[in-house]
Amino acid sequence: MVPESVLLQLREELWSIDGTGIGIAEHSHRGPVFDRVLEDATDAVRAVSGLGDAWEILFLQGGATMHFALIPLNFHRPERTAAFLDTGVWTQKAIVEARRIGPVEVAWSGERFGWNRVPGPDEARAPDGAVYLHYCTNNTIEGTRYDAPPGVATGESVPLIADASSDIFGRRYDLDRHALVFAGAQKNIGLSGNVLVLVRKDFLATARSDLPPMLSYREHARAGSRLNTPNTVGIRAIGLCCRWLLAEGGVAAIEARNAAKARLLYEAIDGSGGFYRGCAERSSRSHMNVTFRLPEASLETRFVDEAAAQGLDGLAGHRSFGGVRASIYNAMPLAGCEALASFMREFARSRG
Ligand code: PMP
Repeated sequence: MVPESVLLQLREELWSIDGTGIGIAEHSHRGPVFDRVLEDATDAVRAVSGLGDAWEILFLQGGATMHFALIPLNFHRPERTAAFLDTGVWTQKAIVEARRIGPVEVAWSGERFGWNRVPGPDEARAPDGAVYLHYCTNNTIEGTRYDAPPGVATGESVPLIADASSDIFGRRYDLDRHALVFAGAQKNIGLSGNVLVLVRKDFLATARSDLPPMLSYREHARAGSRLNTPNTVGIRAIGLCCRWLLAEGGVAAIEARNAAKARLLYEAIDGSGGFYRGCAERSSRSHMNVTFRLPEASLETRFVDEAAAQGLDGLAGHRSFGGVRASIYNAMPLAGCEALASFMREFARSRG
């Protein structure tokens, strides 16, 4: 979901932005109107994230998937080792890309746990001298998340890289402990295709400098995210989503709301006498993606279909994982989770 007020403003601004009689998609990406849009989006991201001048804020494209490849291209080296905490589908896709450039060490894998949890603080140890440690803050498909950035045992010297696509700005999180944080915008902060990359300037300085400019974070930073024609509408959407978030009370306020939303669904699972089984271990439960199973696959299909008929859309689990998944990103109101929790109780009562 995208916040309704953001959609309404975008609709207006597609027609005419800032009273210019010209839509955001029609203004030059080098003109004064887009200068203001980009500056406002950057300021809004800084305000929401709390990240200061030590950080570059980049508005890029290609989806998060593109950055699975760009990160190793920029920062990995054939003679070094990149470390990964493998917690499911999205870290595995990133591992495949890193292996094209150099050795990879999977420092922790959730495979033996059926991907139902993330490593605890003492389990995640990156090899000394690793070029970076990559992990995923919230595992969208499996429904698990970290409470805090890993790294207690990883050694201060290993730069931490986080894929925060599915929970960026959904909770207070120590972004400052990272070297680079990236997120596809479509879940919490905007529209698909856009990617927000937050990168520390000192880490950026270690990037390769011989890449084609469009593949180079340095060049994107040097050009202020305007190396070529950026997705101007998408950048406006990120700015508006961040402004919306600030108006809602910022990350601390949305964190409390997200926790309350998730609690409603986990209570429906835990209170079902075993009819619903949560996929994630309690300590790793995501507040963005609530994953669960029913006693049989055929019941899951009926659950998803009947829910859709009541306007509760998009509940089928990811095609690679199955089960049921409620994705309840920032813009999902509490009422959406109340409606789903009451549907769950009624469905369990009549079929349980
Ligand atoms: N990482 C995570 C954690 C995701 O949830 C997703 C998308 N669901 C991706 C990466 C890939 O994003 P995109 O489709 O924007 O490339």
